[in-house]
Amino acid sequence: MDDRSALVRKYVFDHFLEHGSPPVLEEVMTEFSLSRAEASQVLHDLEAARHLILVKGTDRILMAFPFSAIATPFNVKVRNRGYFANCAWDAIAFHAMLGEEVRVDSFCHHCAAPIRIDLADGRAVRVEPEGSIVYLALPPTEWWADITTTCSNTMVFFASPEHRDASALCTAADSAASLTPDQTHRLSLPIYTRKFALDYARPSKQELLDHFAAMDLAGPYWTL
Ligand SMILES: [Zn+2]
Repeated sequence: MDDRSALVRKYVFDHFLEHGSPPVLEEVMTEFSLSRAEASQVLHDLEAARHLILVKGTDRILMAFPFSAIATPFNVKVRNRGYFANCAWDAIAFHAMLGEEVRVDSFCHHCAAPIRIDLADGRAVRVEPEGSIVYLALPPTEWWADITTTCSNTMVFFASPEHRDASALCTAADSAASLTPDQTHRLSLPIYTRKFALDYARPSKQELLDHFAAMDLAGPYWTL
């Protein structure tokens, strides 16, 4: 990634953290003295590199993982600031990204019952209901086929394994994953910890596979 793209990526994340919303194209133009075409190109390059997602057919930022520009069922509170995450995994990933106490308020994808998860010091310190799980209904090899759909529809919380099993989203066990909040936090570490570093790079496929193995996440699901 070139220096300008790296600076714009960092600017988008800083803006999301400060305001809870992304910068608009005109702010990118002003901040970096770019023409409209140049600023648009940088955003589309960042989308191609999987750092953010634009609303289709526009220059408007929809997602910069884990931040969402629109309301979602995944509320995150950090130091009395509220954010929307893109999915259940992204909500928990705020703790890996910021290293601060994080409160997640969400819903069971089956019955809409409230789910609350507090994270501090690298673990979930409060999980209500206590059997709540993160459910990933698509295998990793399919996540990026349509990442907006994947985030929006297939990475959710359930209040219990029973509610997962009763949900229409529940699929064959070897093509989905059920994780505890603690496992989800650990899964987040290599992807989210350095999001605010200027030289952040997404982990390579091999780094992710090594991380899955280190977490004892084995079997046909955990391939890339
Ligand atoms: Zn439920």
